[in-house]
Amino acid sequence: MLRDELCDYIATLLQTGMFKDYCPNGLQVEGKREVRRIATGVTASQQVLGEAIEWGADAILVHHGYFWRNEDTTIVGIRKKRIAQLLREDINLLAYHLPLDAHAELGNNAQLGKLLGLVELGRFGEQNIAWVGTLERPQSLKQFALQIEHELQRVPQVIGDSIKRISKVAWCSGGAQNYFEAAISQGVDAYITGEISEQNFHLSNESGVAFIAAGHHATERFGIQALGEHLANRFGLDLLFIDQANPI
Ligand SMILES: [Zn+2]
Repeated sequence: MLRDELCDYIATLLQTGMFKDYCPNGLQVEGKREVRRIATGVTASQQVLGEAIEWGADAILVHHGYFWRNEDTTIVGIRKKRIAQLLREDINLLAYHLPLDAHAELGNNAQLGKLLGLVELGRFGEQNIAWVGTLERPQSLKQFALQIEHELQRVPQVIGDSIKRISKVAWCSGGAQNYFEAAISQGVDAYITGEISEQNFHLSNESGVAFIAAGHHATERFGIQALGEHLANRFGLDLLFIDQANPI
């Protein structure tokens, strides 16, 4: 299919125009006009680019692309190496950040909720990115943490009383530790995100709401895979998910 058709289709699907984001969503680096093979990954790292090139990708789709708002805008060093490689190989780089977190079915939070057996009650936070829901069966914080470890294949960092009963849960994939206070206001028993900051420990202690840092990468592996599968099925594209391990 044509690259422009693919970009337009995803823009409509994820409603990219609706979001205020810290990076451009959509085509970030332009490559060849025709796309037959798409590679997906969480982050457009050198390793993901290398594996995509080796596999013969025409386009790479990621959650974390380039040109972040607070980033140095010069194309030098690591940025030069990555972008030069894409241009040399004539590969398209497409990135979808907040629109991919938020999508009601394919998004990181939708997929994470499904994986953990959470039934959605609603959304909250900036641009309604974060989700709140209930566990199908309430369990102790210790049991819930073990379930998360099993599903995400990573040991979460957990703050809270291990025997606390967990029923209502808020979650937001990635680096959403700043939404913890908003999550507490939702009257939840626990909040799950990817990363934790120093002050989250005290907020957890003083509110009694458990904080579960389940991994930025670990919680954001599912949206881009769901998007890739959706596109591959719909347009008959070849698909490869490149899963570069990341402990953070
Ligand atoms: Zn992220």
